[in-house]
Amino acid sequence: MTYPTQPTASHHIAGAYVEDTAGTPIPVICPATGETIATVHAATPELIGRAITAAREAQGAWAALPGVERGRVLRRAADLMRERNRDLSVLETRDTGKPLQETLVADATSGADALEYFGGLAGALTGEHIQLGEDWVYTRREPLGVCLGIGAWNYPTQIACWKAAPALACGNAMIFKPSETTPLCALKVAEILTEAGLPAGLFNVLQGAGDVGAALVDDPRIDKVSLTGSVPTGRRIYAAAAAGIKHVTMELGGKSPLIVFDDADIEDAVGGAILGNFYSSGQVCSNGTRVFVHRSIKEKFLTRLAERLQGAVLGDPLDEATNFGPLVSARQLEIVQGHVTRARDEGARLITGGEVLDRPGFWITPAVFADVTDSMTIARDEIFGPVMAVLDFDTEDEVIARANATEYGLSAGVFTRDIGRAHRVVARMEAGTCFINSYNDAPVEAPFGGMKASGVGRENSKAAIEHYSQLKSVYVRMGRVEAPF
Ligand code: NDP
Repeated sequence: MTYPTQPTASHHIAGAYVEDTAGTPIPVICPATGETIATVHAATPELIGRAITAAREAQGAWAALPGVERGRVLRRAADLMRERNRDLSVLETRDTGKPLQETLVADATSGADALEYFGGLAGALTGEHIQLGEDWVYTRREPLGVCLGIGAWNYPTQIACWKAAPALACGNAMIFKPSETTPLCALKVAEILTEAGLPAGLFNVLQGAGDVGAALVDDPRIDKVSLTGSVPTGRRIYAAAAAGIKHVTMELGGKSPLIVFDDADIEDAVGGAILGNFYSSGQVCSNGTRVFVHRSIKEKFLTRLAERLQGAVLGDPLDEATNFGPLVSARQLEIVQGHVTRARDEGARLITGGEVLDRPGFWITPAVFADVTDSMTIARDEIFGPVMAVLDFDTEDEVIARANATEYGLSAGVFTRDIGRAHRVVARMEAGTCFINSYNDAPVEAPFGGMKASGVGRENSKAAIEHYSQLKSVYVRMGRVEAPF
């Protein structure tokens, strides 16, 4: 069955779909059924060159436009995305396996928020005036040039928009390489931006695996690299970008703590733990996968959690009653299954879930392990799947030290009714995004990014402007030049 929203070719270069079957074929597998729903081809060196040339040629004139004109295009694209939300959500569901119930409210809509927000900011980008007696300095906020976006597979539409919107608002061009696992959605973003009036060459999509990404990172005509991916990939790309002294944004993985104190509202805390572990079948970078629960309420928490997990509906993701989808690929299922087995072997107590379903596609039920200790693999490794580790604690100081004892620093959450404690604890968390009595909200207005190994730079909010532009200082002398000789 062909769906009306399916992109018509593998790449989008200079404002048009482009195919080149000489590139390595990449099958696009629907995670819910295991069926191949499309085939794209990896970009050949010729296409990579063509996209970079198109981006470089278009960027100067785009940067020279008044910001409000750039912003108008982005805001028009936001409107188109919202109008087509259902179609885009169906495509996202087929590409990633995430339930339509989620994609209708979290993907194209979040992409549209970014396009709208940065569309609004584009006209408000300014430098500053610094008076120095009679002389003065003014600063110009200038684009970086051609930015490269490289995406993970969990939020393909959102990641493309979170990178494209600030980049384009600041007057850059972008080349975006989606994950080879979910290559389709970014093409629709390119299609919509083109329809909204974005001049050709400013947003290009090239398919391929890591080697295509690496070739782009190494190209001297790329000025900035923004990656959403794992820490190991981040290390490689950061090093390659350093060789060319390129700007970087690194949105990497995490193993975030979610702390439930004994005075927490249990229903809310259980709800937060569900959202922070099982939304998108656990394939969310900021997930609170180490759930520290105060020893005195642990069994109550676990009982309620197990009860509420009975409400998980693992059905056709295109059915809006389904609220829990498959994992994205056979490989990811194998990784997650391996973690479930290892957790059992290392002595964690399985409360519920972790069963691979005997049906086509890549299905595993949401798993909760209790009695997890800090040294167990499930408490240390990012799993990127629906596996929650529940750990006990006794005191505030103890749990803060244990929560921070990781190389990651993406997010952290605290559930408590004590307002003083809530702020005191988040102030001590080594994490880029913290939540009080909530988990995993990501509004475009708030900076998002990691501390420690979880990343460099911030996406969203006004902070993203700093990462897609650079300042030029201009010194203006009003008097004569006094030279020593
Ligand atoms: P990967 O790190 O495996 O891949 C990320 C992207 O980098 C893919 O497009 C991949 O291509 C590409 N890539 C791989 N190697 C190279 C290379 N040497 N040079 C250039 N590009 C390369 O991540 P996943 O796709 O598996 O996504 C899961 C990870 O992403 C998790 O760790 C998760 O935490 C993180 N993530 C972080 C987010 C954040 O905002 N902090 C949000 C979402 C996810 P390909 O896969 O096609 O080979």
